[in-house]
Amino acid sequence: MESGLYVVATPIGNLGDISQRALAVMAAADLVAAEDTRHTSRLLQHFNVDVPLQAYHDHSDARAQARIMACLAANGIVVLVSDAGTPLISDPGYRLVREAQQHGFRVVPIPGACAAIAALSASGLPTDRFLFEGFLPAKAGARAARLQSLSAETATLVFYEAPHRVVETLEAMVEAFGADREALLARELTKTFETLRRAPLAELAAFVAADSNQQRGEIVLAVSGQRGRDQEGELSDETARLLQRLAVELPAKRAAAVVADLTGLRKKALYDYLLGLKD
Ligand code: SAM
Repeated sequence: MESGLYVVATPIGNLGDISQRALAVMAAADLVAAEDTRHTSRLLQHFNVDVPLQAYHDHSDARAQARIMACLAANGIVVLVSDAGTPLISDPGYRLVREAQQHGFRVVPIPGACAAIAALSASGLPTDRFLFEGFLPAKAGARAARLQSLSAETATLVFYEAPHRVVETLEAMVEAFGADREALLARELTKTFETLRRAPLAELAAFVAADSNQQRGEIVLAVSGQRGRDQEGELSDETARLLQRLAVELPAKRAAAVVADLTGLRKKALYDYLLGLKD
């Protein structure tokens, strides 16, 4: 195995999700740089891997980074892991990867679990375009402002959220995106109490608020992007074309219902649009 910095994904719950490449590179490592060495040493023990560990996070001092660079300079194999999932995805490592690249060392991704991608893959929400937003600001005002700035985004939005904030975040999402926008709660992925629930935002917020079990564990929230309308709130050309074409074949009410189903737009607004064309 060639010298380099290997950015290794680890499981997000179910240890069966470790990859063969992850195990091979960890066994060959001269140094494993870990977000939390106690956490990672339990993982390594589970897989009978015995290699030197060093703590590394985004606030590590220059000496920690220098030790890693020295290992790479001596043709070593350094593995970067975070507590769970893919390093750098709402996790430490960005500075280290940049530094390794600047020194001309190889940086090699070893892909695997990532909560955002796992949630999206089973969400039933559009996945052709998505925007990973990570954690929202913890303070209500800043969170509302961020959500507002995303309200016209047409790509599916993906967030990480802490369990003690999930109820208020869902309420803030209803405010910013409207009660009807489709959303997903993906909780405890790959673990015993895995829950995936897709529903309009207001329904999802009520479901989580009513059951304290849904306010526990690790959580991904995803929200469908704004569909069918452009930035000014007008029907997009594509939606208008579809609606008009269907209205040639079907009664206006039926055409509006089909397009509402496809786009998440309100049936009444689509029907009114068709009536307006008649006028
Ligand atoms: N790097 C990780 C990844 O690739 O997903 C994410 C690390 S971030 C510090 C931790 C957050 O990821 C959690 O607060 C939660 O929002 C999400 N997360 C991690 N594991 C999860 C799981 N098993 N189920 C649902 N969400 C999870």
